[in-house]
Amino acid sequence: MGIFSTVTEAFPRMRGEKDFSFARHTTIGCGGTAAAAFSPSDERQLVALLRFLKEQGIAHCFLGAGANVLPAEGRFDGAVIRFDGFSRLRCEGEFLIAGAGVTGGRLLRFAREHGLGGAEFLTGIPLSMGGAAVMNAGVRGAHIGDLVAEVRGISDGAVSVFSHRDCMFGEKKSVFQSGIAVTEIRLKLERMSEKESLARAADFRSKRAHLPKGRSMGCVFVNPQGKPAGALIEACGLKGTRMGGARISDVHANFILNDGGTSEDVAALLALVKRRVYEATGILLEEEIKRIP
Ligand SMILES: Cc1cc2nc3c(=O)[nH]c(=O)nc-3n(C[C@H](O)[C@H](O)[C@H](O)COP(=O)(O)OP(=O)(O)OC[C@H]3O[C@@H](n4cnc5c(N)ncnc54)[C@H](O)[C@@H]3O)c2cc1C
Repeated sequence: MGIFSTVTEAFPRMRGEKDFSFARHTTIGCGGTAAAAFSPSDERQLVALLRFLKEQGIAHCFLGAGANVLPAEGRFDGAVIRFDGFSRLRCEGEFLIAGAGVTGGRLLRFAREHGLGGAEFLTGIPLSMGGAAVMNAGVRGAHIGDLVAEVRGISDGAVSVFSHRDCMFGEKKSVFQSGIAVTEIRLKLERMSEKESLARAADFRSKRAHLPKGRSMGCVFVNPQGKPAGALIEACGLKGTRMGGARISDVHANFILNDGGTSEDVAALLALVKRRVYEATGILLEEEIKRIP
C-alpha cells in the first residue's frame, strides 16, 4: 500500500493529497514530487500523525508557504506536512495569537481591524507564520522574533510551549530549525490606528519596490558579519550569470530567479557563487534557504 493510502486509512478525516508537486507549492517553482502531503487540523492530529509516521518508518518534511525552500528533484518517498489547517487568529489585549498557517497579509489585516500594529515590516514578504518563526523573517532592523512572546510547537512527540528565550532567534535562525513543528505563535503588538498602520505598511512596500520580480526564494545567502552577501556576489561579476533555467538577478545579486529551470540548475548556481566568493574573499557564504526534503 502507498503512503497516501496507509495514512488516510489510519486517519480517515485527515486532509491529504497524493503525488504532491513541490514546483506548484513553492515560490521558486521547481522540484519533484512527494508521495503524499497532509494537512492536520489541530495539534492532537499532528502529534498522532508524527507518531504514526515514525512507527511506520515514513520520512516527512514540513512546508509553510514555500517561499524560502529549494525542493529536490525526483521523487520523495515520504510525506509533506502542511499547516493550512492551523488557520486560527485571535486577540487577547495587545497579544495576537496566530496559527502556523496564517499568512502575513491576513495577520496584518486582522491586527489593523483590532486596532493593533507593529508588524508592518512583514508587508510584502511571502510567508506563513510558522515559516516566519522558523526563519525569523523580517527586514534589516525588524524581525518577527522581536515580537514573539511565545511559540507552541511539537517537540519529541508532545506539545511544548517555547518562551521568547527558548526560541533562540538569530539572523535567519531559530531553535525550530531542529525539526520542531511550529503550530501557533503569540505576538506582542501595540495599540495603533488603522491610518498609522497603513502608512507604515505603504512605507515598507515602497522600500521593496526595487526587489527583483519573478520566481525566487528571496535572498539565498545570509549576510556574513556586516557585509551584504549581494554586494560580495556582485563584486565577483556574477550578476546575470545563468545555469540552465536559473540565473542570478541583474537587480539584486543575492536573488536567484528561475525561468523554467530545475532545482539542479539552482543548486549548481548556488555552488558556483559559494566557490567564486570564497576564492575572491575567503568568505564562505552560508545558505539562508532550506533544502527539502
Ligand atoms: C520574493 C521574496 C521575497 C522575500 N523577502 C524576504 C524578506 O524581506 N525577509 C525575509 O526574512 N524573508 C524573505 N523571503 C523569504 C521567506 O519569505 C521567509 O523566509 C519566510 O519566513 C518563509 O516562510 P514560509 O512559510 O514560506 O516557509 P517555507 O519556505 O515553507 O519553509 C521554510 C523552512 O521552515 C520550515 N517550516 C515551514 N513551516 C513550518 C512549521 N510550521 N513548523 C516547522 N517548520 C516549518 C520548512 O521545512 C523550511 O525548513 C522572501 C522570499 C521571496 C520569495
